[in-house]
Amino acid sequence: MLPGVVDVTAITGQRVIGPLTSWQTPDGPYIVEHLAGVSPTGDVLVYFWSPRHDWQAVNVSNITQQQTVGPLTSWQTPADLMNIEHLAGINANNDLYIFFWSPQQDWQAVNLSLLTGQQVASPLASWQVPNGLNTIEHLAGVSPGGDVLVFFWSMGGIYTVRVQAVRVSDDDGARPADIVPEQVRQWVSKANEVYAVAAIQLQFNSAPGSSDWSTVNSTILNNMTGDQDQNWNQEKDTGNSVAAQHPAKITAFFRFGPGATPTGGSFSSTDYNFVTMTGFTETSVCGHQNIGLFAHELGHYMGLSHTFAREFGSVQEAESFFTVNGNNPAVFDGDGLSDTPPDPYVNVSQVQCLATTTNLSLNGTQFILPRNNIMSYYDDPAKTITPQQVQIVRQALEARVQRGLILGKP
Ligand SMILES: [Zn+2]
Repeated sequence: MLPGVVDVTAITGQRVIGPLTSWQTPDGPYIVEHLAGVSPTGDVLVYFWSPRHDWQAVNVSNITQQQTVGPLTSWQTPADLMNIEHLAGINANNDLYIFFWSPQQDWQAVNLSLLTGQQVASPLASWQVPNGLNTIEHLAGVSPGGDVLVFFWSMGGIYTVRVQAVRVSDDDGARPADIVPEQVRQWVSKANEVYAVAAIQLQFNSAPGSSDWSTVNSTILNNMTGDQDQNWNQEKDTGNSVAAQHPAKITAFFRFGPGATPTGGSFSSTDYNFVTMTGFTETSVCGHQNIGLFAHELGHYMGLSHTFAREFGSVQEAESFFTVNGNNPAVFDGDGLSDTPPDPYVNVSQVQCLATTTNLSLNGTQFILPRNNIMSYYDDPAKTITPQQVQIVRQALEARVQRGLILGKP
């Protein structure tokens, strides 16, 4: 055959700058040929051709809301009889992103720098190493400081899960929750910081027209305040049936509440398939917007309990309770986990809000307060979870796969 040339840009109308990466995938009896590169405006573009159709282009950045600079690397992994296609690149902030596609789900993006705390300022290399029945995936690049970094994870080690944000109004459309997609994105982004230690990354596309955003008119849902409600069973069933329209995702309802003014309360549990939230600015902690609230309720959705067993109105009240219970610290243990300390939570601002209140002395016993735990009520900018909580949330997500949740595993 004589040499030939095809102008893929002329066919697709899409340009890239810089190097391309290529890969091939089976599609029944056919082979699909792929190319990827970065557009002049920083969009990740994938071109593909098969005997069944001419060259097409898909804008992965539009789907994932993540852009890149510089060259991409590509690789594939076999998973559960499915082929997962991967791309990786860095963005303008030197954050390392994995883009991946499977027959089960459209393109998603994982911020590997958020999961590892390491950044990259160079082109990337990728390779895979078999390890028994598993595959260890590797990415390498040079840090901004000039260090060679090798990132590695086993297939299935990273979980991604999509969020469906549902804005609730009354049956007649009145009393809509005060929420917009950009505010959901901020709550989701904070949750991704908190659950990075569990290698869990939520996906939420806040762009106009995104399928991750929807609305529902339901006075039943708009009035929910929790499992103590008189008609809780009806609320739960309604919530579950709306969530069942998005079984692959975590459904979060943003609702007004039962009163004339919006509620600030939120809740969730493993007993049902949704998270119940409020308007973004309707909820506050220590005088500022509660950016950790979605992460906290997601903790309940993923099986976590509060660090505290109950709330106290004053230190004296906590001390009396301690006395009555034989000064047994376990009476303050809300979650039974050995790596979160007993938490005698006193609901006064000097304890909840003052970063310098790191411990509490009750009847001579010192309690170190779990200020930075997402399942506590303390105000702290650096919320996280412990290793035992990591185990619980990962198992809880796996358990929800039985109910239809799809976990992406790049
Ligand atoms: Zn809670």
